Amino acid sequence: MNNLDGLVKITDPHFIIDLMYAGTEHNMTGVAVYADLGWGNQAYVHPNLWQALQRLIPYLDKTGRKLKIYDACRPVEAHEKLFALIPQDGFFIADASRSPHCRATAVDVALVEKDGKELVYPTLVDAYDEHFAKEVQSGNLQGFFAYLKQASHNYTNPDMPEAINNRNELRKLMEDIGLVPVPRLHEWWHYELPDARSEKYPLIRLG
Ligand SMILES: [Zn+2]
Repeated sequence: MNNLDGLVKITDPHFIIDLMYAGTEHNMTGVAVYADLGWGNQAYVHPNLWQALQRLIPYLDKTGRKLKIYDACRPVEAHEKLFALIPQDGFFIADASRSPHCRATAVDVALVEKDGKELVYPTLVDAYDEHFAKEVQSGNLQGFFAYLKQASHNYTNPDMPEAINNRNELRKLMEDIGLVPVPRLHEWWHYELPDARSEKYPLIRLG
């Protein structure tokens, strides 16, 4: 059953919607899965998540920054298609019901400056990298997993103080509005409701 009715589609101009799995430009799978499924570049979230995200607006107004949303609700069918493209443990979760994106209770985000440039972080969102994307798509994840360590909240590197600082500031900002990072702390861009994985949030399906 399509149960989008209770969700909020983000259209507020403080947020830039650029879902990575809608196109192929910044997409580790290389396949425009959301476009192929007719989902496209639409960011739906549960009202509880929207309530939290709205608390960012005073900060965004004050700084002129915007929050870029790389992923929000990911319908179960889309998740299954993504997992089929990269069926390896540690990338997408095999069981869609364990992904809070499939319950519309998580977002993948980065801040964008007033001038339109994205802030620097220790990796791009999704640890996207053109070289590793090709490797991952050919089933060779070893190098990528080594690189993915840079995406952890625990990663430190004295050579990139600005990126580490931006990551830490983003975390503080998101925690201040009531969201939490991914439990394993391995993705600096992922934030979710504290109870995001609860069954009380129904799984979202396309049809
Ligand atoms: Zn995520």
